[in-house]
Amino acid sequence: MKESAVKKIVVLTSGGDAPGMNAALRAVVRTASHYKIECYGVREGFNGLINDDFTKMGPRSVKNIITEGGTILKSARSLEFKTAAGRKKAFENCQKHGIDGMVCIGGDGTFRGAKVFNEEFGIKTIGVPGTIDNDIFGTDNTIGYDTALNTAMEAIDKIRDTATSHNRIFFVEVMGRDAGFIALNSGLATGAIGILIPEKKDSIEELFATFERAEKAGKASSIVVVAEGEKLGSIYDIAKATQTGFPSYDIRVAVLGHIQRGGSPSCADRVLASRLGYGAVIGLMDGKTNMMVGMKSNRMVYTAIDEAVKKHNEIDQDLLKISEILSI
Ligand code: ATP
Repeated sequence: MKESAVKKIVVLTSGGDAPGMNAALRAVVRTASHYKIECYGVREGFNGLINDDFTKMGPRSVKNIITEGGTILKSARSLEFKTAAGRKKAFENCQKHGIDGMVCIGGDGTFRGAKVFNEEFGIKTIGVPGTIDNDIFGTDNTIGYDTALNTAMEAIDKIRDTATSHNRIFFVEVMGRDAGFIALNSGLATGAIGILIPEKKDSIEELFATFERAEKAGKASSIVVVAEGEKLGSIYDIAKATQTGFPSYDIRVAVLGHIQRGGSPSCADRVLASRLGYGAVIGLMDGKTNMMVGMKSNRMVYTAIDEAVKKHNEIDQDLLKISEILSI
């Protein structure tokens, strides 16, 4: 095996936390240890680089964390890292510890920060996509998405039980920022009659037609899943408009919120995180930089960070069609 391009690396988790970040951290630390690369964990994202919050990590530092949600390194949104002075401080600390490689586990904001830092100071950087939103190009799934999706599905299943008992219409908001992946897939998986996502042009008229169809089909209760980034309006506005259009309906709104971020990662997320954490270290050793590691069609791929943050995974139009056909 050729000589590694890095000798001492840092790993950090940044931006919104996601289930599986710990599994990714474990994979980074243990892969580094296997290949005799020194590894430091940095607490609270980029803030830890600025505040010199580095801890040497070895295989035992990451014991028993593969099952845990959240991130033991903690995450943060660092305003100071957005300034040139903040990044200079971060670089000086890296220099002090002799760091020549960096693994950043986070979302697109994290990757933007990592890219700027790499361009300014040259420390090799690999991004690992960890966000429940699944809004990163260059990987079929991001770490945390599968767990969040299952959490949303289980919550909507429970809401369906009460909706059915009372003949109610429920509007359920799920997370995903500007992306509708959680909404589309949890809506399909729970048999929602309507799915409102920012990637398609929705209208109140169309939504009303859906309710009329459901009524004609004899449905007394229904679920409509709404993505948090839905462009038609807030879930409360949509529910209010529906109440005006259908005064006899018993309408409720449920915003699932942060329960979707927590919990023990699913098997799929643990496996994905383990593969990507391993891939990040192998990539650095191979001399790769300013790249994100992802899985596409079950193969490990490296995508330029620039591309990963600028492009978007398209919503599968077939899924929309299938959900409409199956919700009659
Ligand atoms: P999620 O998508 O789950 O919210 P994220 O990684 O996109 O995760 P952000 O808060 O957008 O979360 O970004 C994380 C951090 O990355 C920011 O708090 C900031 O410190 C850093 N960052 C983002 N954009 C830049 C930038 N242009 N320059 C320097 N640092 C940046």
